[in-house]
Amino acid sequence: MDAQLQRAQRWESLGQLAGGVAHDFNNLVGVILSYGEFVIEQASTGGDLATIAADAQQLVDAAQRASDLTHQLLSFARREVVRAEPLDLHAVIEGLLDLLRRSVGEHIAVRVRTSGDLPPVVADRGQLQQLLANLAVNARDAMPGGGSLTLRTDTVVQPPSGAPGGPPPGEYVRLRVADTGSGMPQEVRDRAFEPFFTTKPRSEGTGLGLATVYGIVTQAGGDVRIESAVGAGTTIVVLLPVAVDPAPAETAPPVAARGETI
Ligand code: ADP
Repeated sequence: MDAQLQRAQRWESLGQLAGGVAHDFNNLVGVILSYGEFVIEQASTGGDLATIAADAQQLVDAAQRASDLTHQLLSFARREVVRAEPLDLHAVIEGLLDLLRRSVGEHIAVRVRTSGDLPPVVADRGQLQQLLANLAVNARDAMPGGGSLTLRTDTVVQPPSGAPGGPPPGEYVRLRVADTGSGMPQEVRDRAFEPFFTTKPRSEGTGLGLATVYGIVTQAGGDVRIESAVGAGTTIVVLLPVAVDPAPAETAPPVAARGETI
């Protein structure tokens, strides 16, 4: 069985695996209830304000994790392309750039490079944003001490004799998301697209980030692969097929120097 088919089957197993998430979610609800009760008790007995604030913060943190978990699960489970339209990937990246910068933090330099105008791809804008956000968050987690995150876009032509299990021949918009982080050992690379596979602590990782990326890319008829070396960083390479009969795509907002660091 080829690797792509295996991954697709794992992705199909969402229904069986959702129970694991329900379990984690239930634990978080338990934490929220406990801290909620502490806060009420302390407030009603004239407790120390700093302690009340600290407990309330724990409650908010747990609620945020629960919200992230359901959000990721929902976006992972959404199998149908909600609203596929011709899109300029570069414009989608630029529209999200501020948010990406904020989500990775100031210690990581985010750069965008493009080799020129891109032909449109047919995809759901929200799903592409989700894909970019998931890859950025993973890059952030791989670079706790800082580093750089570079998003490159260009076009490639996949020859008819592509590798087995690879994308069908044709023209693709290629997105490469490269970080200078910890990199992945072979055994992590092999399992990284599996739903619920994570090397992060339970409170931080759901193991749905790359599985979601995989689902989004294959729904759009594309391909995704990992290039990574321990200590040298990771590049996620996404191929999205160019729209066959391109309608006018959303155009990128003007930038001072396309192809330069933004
Ligand atoms: P999560 O981030 O919740 O763990 P993912 O499916 O996004 O789930 O990633 C699965 C695993 O792949 C991560 O736990 C991590 O070990 C590894 N990984 C993903 N992206 C990167 C990256 N950019 N650098 C290093 N390791 C990564």
